[in-house]
Amino acid sequence: MAPSRTVCVYTGDEIGRYGFGDDHPLGENRIYAFWDEMHRRNLAFQVRICDPVIASEAQLKLFHTPEYVEKVKAYSQAGKGMLDYGDTPAYQGVFEDASYVVGTVVDAVCRVMNNQARRAFIPIAGLHHSMPDTASGFCVFNDVGVAIKVLENEFGLERIAYVDIDAHHGDGIYYSLEDDPRVIVADIHEDGRYNFPQSGFSHEIGKGAARGRKLNIPLLPLSADDDFLMMWEKVESFIRASKPQFIILNCGADGLYGDPLAHLHYSAKVHARAAASLCRIAEEFADGRIVAVGGGGYDLRNLGKAWTAVVEAFLEAPML
Ligand SMILES: [Zn+2]
Repeated sequence: MAPSRTVCVYTGDEIGRYGFGDDHPLGENRIYAFWDEMHRRNLAFQVRICDPVIASEAQLKLFHTPEYVEKVKAYSQAGKGMLDYGDTPAYQGVFEDASYVVGTVVDAVCRVMNNQARRAFIPIAGLHHSMPDTASGFCVFNDVGVAIKVLENEFGLERIAYVDIDAHHGDGIYYSLEDDPRVIVADIHEDGRYNFPQSGFSHEIGKGAARGRKLNIPLLPLSADDDFLMMWEKVESFIRASKPQFIILNCGADGLYGDPLAHLHYSAKVHARAAASLCRIAEEFADGRIVAVGGGGYDLRNLGKAWTAVVEAFLEAPML
């Protein structure tokens, strides 16, 4: 069968609803800001639109403890309480909304693995602070964490590259997979001394059999495109050297200048460059397989710019 040339982008209220209300930085309007920009840039009609899919509880438990899954379900039914120390409130239906985010990312990686798509983007996903046993930083379930388990368990992959350019360290992915040599992590973010979640220092390179399989690059506040691009070369050669069979990109938009929750000064050029360069590596080693998740981003105009830059790169990067 000829390799798929399809670029999928997911949309639907089922993932759009994931959010904590108008008074919270992560509201429900982010998906619309993204699609407005998709239309404005004439990208919307070039992609295959895909529908959200809900994850099963068994899938959630590939990454999360049964106790935590039950807790989210109970708090979701009650519609109140905090799922962490105070950033991530429960609301009625949060269990279903968060399960849709996970299921959609799993659907995307399965489509790419099954040659129904070559590249896929899920705007509302990349909840990288969620830990196996707790929510954290607006992240209820760790969609990419579950998807990585599916790639390992169901597809038997041994080299999965996870690249995270969100302004915050992807601690939920890093610490839960710190000793898993099958997961190659490269995470470039605002220095943990100045921002949540206060981790991701350069000495954190993985543990045990995975020592040397993880790369953390903290950038000082006010770092801009030049600073990112200089460090990106390191990321690129690290990922290339790992010969990945699959690439996942968290392209959080909160590194762009003006984001209310970070102090970096990137433009969307950073997102375009990262996506194009990872597509090239995916073509070279992974039969083209790459999935990107939207991650953070709390300024709606920035989020539209950064995420559409990734989709545009997915449409334009050569397919070999
Ligand atoms: Zn972030």
